[in-house]
Amino acid sequence: MRFYSTNSPSVTVSTEQALFQSMPADKGLYMPAPLPYLGADFFSAIADQSLADIGFAISQALFGDEISKSDLEDLTHHAFPFSTPVIELEAGKVGVLELFHGPSLAFKDVGARYMAGLMSYFSKQTDKEVNILVATSGDTGGAVAMGFHNVPGVRVSILYPSGRVSELQEKQLTTLGGNIQAFEVNGSFDDCQAIVKQAFVDAELNAHLSLSSANSINIFRLIPQGFYYVSAFGQVRSSGKPVVFSTPSGNFGNLSAGALVQKMGLPVSHFVAATNLNHVVPNYLKTGDYVPKASIATISNAMDVGSPSNFTRLSHLYDDRYDQFKANVSGYFFDDDETRAGMKRIYETYNYVSCPHTAIGIMGLEKYLADTKQDITGVALATAHPSKFKPLVEEVLNVSVEVPDRLAELAQREKNSIRISANYADFKESFLQTV
Ligand SMILES: *Cc1c(COP(=O)(O)O)cnc(C)c1O
Repeated sequence: MRFYSTNSPSVTVSTEQALFQSMPADKGLYMPAPLPYLGADFFSAIADQSLADIGFAISQALFGDEISKSDLEDLTHHAFPFSTPVIELEAGKVGVLELFHGPSLAFKDVGARYMAGLMSYFSKQTDKEVNILVATSGDTGGAVAMGFHNVPGVRVSILYPSGRVSELQEKQLTTLGGNIQAFEVNGSFDDCQAIVKQAFVDAELNAHLSLSSANSINIFRLIPQGFYYVSAFGQVRSSGKPVVFSTPSGNFGNLSAGALVQKMGLPVSHFVAATNLNHVVPNYLKTGDYVPKASIATISNAMDVGSPSNFTRLSHLYDDRYDQFKANVSGYFFDDDETRAGMKRIYETYNYVSCPHTAIGIMGLEKYLADTKQDITGVALATAHPSKFKPLVEEVLNVSVEVPDRLAELAQREKNSIRISANYADFKESFLQTV
């Protein structure tokens, strides 16, 4: 498989280069070149298998000429020891695809674990150590830390804003030890991101260290996210109706992954892009104008993105044509009051406890069903376990939410972080002492 940049489609790089480089030098986004068309029959044949086996079959089709069958099988089975079940809320009509049964309790596990497996595979081939730098406002860091923990040949440094992540999120970043090091920055998420960006252009660091990023524009986080759309399709297709997915979105990686696997031949009839007040994509669908904005803080904070970095990729998948984009995607957005009311109604109607992001996905699907009045099967993606937003969910629903054992256990462990200022020189000095 080769990859091209959306900014210069004629130049291609190898899988290994696109994986470790994350973003092309021309600031475009990597895409498979050409995107393989596997067809509806291929997906129908594998759709009833486990997530790991679906991942294995698609990975073989994509990377089978570069990575051996047994290595791909090990990689996918190690990455996906969990499943992504569809829970029916209304038989044959409304389902939720639960993507939170991995170690960090959010869908980001799927992309992070697969990418970790690939990086480990390639670093073993070359015998060189890779240093991953990642800035996080919460969820990404947890999935990356847990996904890369104990992965040979890879060291991970996570920068997070002190006092601005939840206690449980902080434990996910700071208690694993081994190859995972947390830098607690006396500053904001933007400060953390600025430090990481500066490290990538620091000639001195890059001269003797192999630095890489694990952010969500990396195409190898998106490819595996396509696997659970296939799994969901397998679980609902007996309805015989067209299948529509509703994806609660922020940076639009998750929806791009769906569009990617649709283009590879998975029979998806339509997508719903569901957002909070950061609604630049629903606005684009309404007006045809794409106008990025500064982000607004909401209760569905993992979707507080005003300038989604995967918009270009999604648009590219629809040939940069507004009519095609609109024919495949509908947009809906909800403010915080509507989200709280939705969480309540979903609980009262279906007896289903949802996190605010998941509630937005379900509400988007319901609006689409009401607007189009089509006889379809809708699947809303449940992106995080409600316990990740325990205080909010408990307050809105007046129920008690249990934290799954595997995460509750982390809360007992001791936090270990390196405290630094928001000054780059401070980070560099501490970082060099750890490598
Ligand atoms: C990251 C995240 C999202 C947004 O996903 P994108 O791929 O950035 O659109 C939604 N919900 C939760 C819980 C998340 O962690």
